This record gives sequence, structure tokens and C-alpha cells, in this order.
Amino acid sequence: MLLTREERKVWYYNQTHKTIDGIIYKQCTRCNEFKPMDKDSFYT
Ligand SMILES: [Zn+2]
Repeated sequence: MLLTREERKVWYYNQTHKTIDGIIYKQCTRCNEFKPMDKDSFYT
């Protein structure tokens, strides 16, 4: 699979983010759990 740099960025974003009921969840890089992106869990 050949991806441009921009496509890789989108692909990676889609792997680590998802939206449920209008809330964006981001996958934690340490425990791989999806956590809502609020100010407490952002980038943790
Ligand atoms: Zn975590």
C-alpha cells in the first residue's frame, strides 16, 4: 500500500480518533483505550 505523506496523516488520524454522538475520542498511546477529547484527557 503506497500512501503519500498527507494520506498517511489522514490514515493515522482515522486510526486514533473516532466520533460517537458528536464527541471526539482519541486513542491513548499508552493503554490504547479511546478517551473523550476534553481538557483532562487530551494528549494523556
Ligand atoms: Zn491511557
